[in-house]
Amino acid sequence: MKHARQTLADLLLAVDNASRAAARPLAARLLAVSKTRDADEIAGLADAGQRAFGENYVQEALPKIEALRGRGLEWHLIGHLQSNKADAAARVFDWVQSVDRPKLVAALAKHRPDALPPLNVLLQVNIDDETSKHGCAPDEVDALADAVAAEPRLRLRGLMAIPAPFADMARRREAFRAMRGLFDALQARHPGIDTLSMGMSEDFVPAIEEGATMVRVGSALFGARAEKK
Ligand SMILES: *Cc1c(COP(=O)(O)O)cnc(C)c1O
Repeated sequence: MKHARQTLADLLLAVDNASRAAARPLAARLLAVSKTRDADEIAGLADAGQRAFGENYVQEALPKIEALRGRGLEWHLIGHLQSNKADAAARVFDWVQSVDRPKLVAALAKHRPDALPPLNVLLQVNIDDETSKHGCAPDEVDALADAVAAEPRLRLRGLMAIPAPFADMARRREAFRAMRGLFDALQARHPGIDTLSMGMSEDFVPAIEEGATMVRVGSALFGARAEKK
């Protein structure tokens, strides 16, 4: 297996090239998706310079965040969040990318500790509504965004999507393009937003071409995940 440092460098170069080819003013940000990886693997990537890590489950993330405290890492929750875990999530994460309902907005705002900066929030949009289970509908984005923006303990940063994994890349592009349209419309209402999170190991290049400012990459960085038992 390639050294983590080399894998990271290759991936950052690919992200950079795609951003440049799409004439983006800034390269897309790389979120390293560290679900199922242990704290040592994450530390290896952190030593190589990676700062932002994404986790799917609050319970799985807590011991890793604790073990790596003090290293200046930035933690993003990218998995579905149950309301009864909003308290823990609001205390330990820097970003929650999976906000998709008003109840969660209220719970995160209530539990974000005053000693921490406002929690960065992305609204997860269910852009291919037949296949994915979570995320708000596109026509719910405005009301949810206004609810986040009204909470001083939250900071609205943009949108996130997990389009259905169509084998046909043209169909994935349609979803990415639809997300870009939603993002631009939201930015007209909330000029402070800056993040459109979409694209994973298999499709981060087309995602960047269609407007992603953050890509979430797991297996292309850490190697294939073991099947869930
Ligand atoms: C697992 C996961 C990723 C990363 O997937 P890879 O194909 O391993 O790059 C990105 N986003 C979310 C929401 C995920 O659950």
